[in-house]
Amino acid sequence: MITTTLFPGRYVQGAGVFNRLGEEIARFGSRAFLICDPYVHDNLLHGYRKKIEKSTELVIERFKGECSDEEIERLSAIALKSSCSVIAGIGGGKTLDTAKAVAYKMKAPVAVAPTIASTDAPCSALAVIYKASGEFKRYLILPKNPDLVLVDTQIVAQAPARFLVAGLGDALATYFEAESCRQKYAGNMTGDVGSMTAYALAELCFHTLLEYGLAAKLACEAHVVTPALEHVVEANTLLSGLGFESGGLAAAHAIHNGLTVLEPTHDYFHGEKVAIGTLASLFLTDKPTEMISKVFDFCESLGLPTTLADIGLKDVSDDDLMKAAEGATAEGETIHNEPIPVTTASVFAALKAMDSMGRARK
Ligand SMILES: [Zn+2]
Repeated sequence: MITTTLFPGRYVQGAGVFNRLGEEIARFGSRAFLICDPYVHDNLLHGYRKKIEKSTELVIERFKGECSDEEIERLSAIALKSSCSVIAGIGGGKTLDTAKAVAYKMKAPVAVAPTIASTDAPCSALAVIYKASGEFKRYLILPKNPDLVLVDTQIVAQAPARFLVAGLGDALATYFEAESCRQKYAGNMTGDVGSMTAYALAELCFHTLLEYGLAAKLACEAHVVTPALEHVVEANTLLSGLGFESGGLAAAHAIHNGLTVLEPTHDYFHGEKVAIGTLASLFLTDKPTEMISKVFDFCESLGLPTTLADIGLKDVSDDDLMKAAEGATAEGETIHNEPIPVTTASVFAALKAMDSMGRARK
């Protein structure tokens, strides 16, 4: 059996570690093309620029807000003209994905510095490309993971806690999906089977969230860094990233994808919808009552969605919910990595059952 496991080249995390960004980038090149999201560009960068420039020359560009082919083209042209040897991105997921895509076009190394811990995107060898209008266009599978991922927990703690909580929702899916893939010998994001390393990291991710999730959220609300926050930022960013990419995806993300066909869910973060996908997957896959209660308790303690109304689907019709179930079970969807037979009807039933349980517990 062939297994493949993917890792970012170097993962650096801690309070104040942004001060080391220049030295860390300099490992990969002496002239960096730095793509900053608008908030970072206008508010954060001036505090660090001089420090970074002690180690590496900078060409700075403000990200226009969408990870689109047009924006990747624009930024690649500037990077090429300015003879940069390394690409760096600072900001949210779209900024980082754009930096990864630009580096791929340039065949240059890439460093990413997330300013929130809301998804497992920073560590992955994948960029999500959108149309200029904001609709999903395609996945760009990259030949390698970022060379450097640097997370300053002090900066993560300054962002609204909703980002961290959404990251907890995304990371919650990791163990259940990887475990389903393990049981079925289903492929991970490379198509090969996951390694025992990947499955063990997915399990560590789950235990870390349950143990420290609430304490981390409270620390983030108080804008302070505590060990619990550090553990959860690592779980959301590194463990969940390794777990999903090398362990594999299954029902939770497929149900998320199905839910996105319903317009009202667009106002909610990826991780918030993945939490609903995870809860529904527990009913779909016949998990013990004790486990279902444990995951509901966890989501409720954090304020993650536990009913359809919580993701904008208060009055959703059965016809619309069936459309979401159809999307979740489309050919090629990762829901077919579940070790039990899955149908559109069984996903519809799981969503209804999850919603009833969530409402009964409120
Ligand atoms: Zn996800």
